[in-house]
Parts: sequence; structure tokens; C-alpha cells
Amino acid sequence: MKIHPVHNASCHCGAVQFQLSLPNGLVEPRHCSCSMCRRRGAIVASVPLDGLTILKGEEHLRLYQFNTMTAKHYFCSICGIYTHHQRRSNPNEFSFNIGCLDGVENPFELEPVKVLDGGNHPKDRDNVDGR
Ligand SMILES: [Zn+2]
Repeated sequence: MKIHPVHNASCHCGAVQFQLSLPNGLVEPRHCSCSMCRRRGAIVASVPLDGLTILKGEEHLRLYQFNTMTAKHYFCSICGIYTHHQRRSNPNEFSFNIGCLDGVENPFELEPVKVLDGGNHPKDRDNVDGR
């Protein structure tokens, strides 16, 4: 798959458009097995907070939080697609849904990717919050 240094991305319905700064491509693409990520199943990679810009449709994004309410999980309120989240393990980063990248027709060609053990978070062994 071709990853551009500045790569556009969108939710499924197109209401939410965003742009990622990916000078080093996709760094450590991965799954996470926390209670949230294992349900949504996306392959994610991360950028610094200033590496993600919402171009359009910010008003359509909904925020979902749980447990310690640290991670911020965003999804499109129209089509339901997970776009990105602010990480709990590193709040200075967003992780994003690689399947949302323009031109990426098969994110699963990245498999096998690492599975982050989000159910055993270093900050709390009781499980659950998203990384
Ligand atoms: Zn949408």
C-alpha cells in the first residue's frame, strides 16, 4: 500500500475527512486486545497529536469514553465508523484507523500485525481502557 507523507482519510460516509502527517509511514501498525479495541477490530497506527487534522465534519464526530475516561474514542455519528482515538497509554498521541486511509483497499495485507495487550494496561491491571 502506498502511504503518503501527508495522507488523507475519511469515515465510510465521507462526512468526516481528516489528514494525517505520516513522514515515516505507518509506525508499528497493530491491533489492541482491550475491551474496546477487540470489539472494533481495526488495525491502528499512531501519530503525535499535531499529526492529525480534522478537515471536515468535526460536528459529526462523537466521543466515547469509559472506565478511567482517559482515552478518547471518536467515531462518525452518521456511519458509525471509528476514525481515531487519543491514547491512554500516551495521551500525546492519536491512534487512527488504517482502514480509513484514502487508497488503502486492503489494510489486512499488513497482517500479521502485533497485538498490544490492552487488557493488561501498565497503569491498571484491572483491564479495560483503550490504548
Ligand atoms: Zn461517516
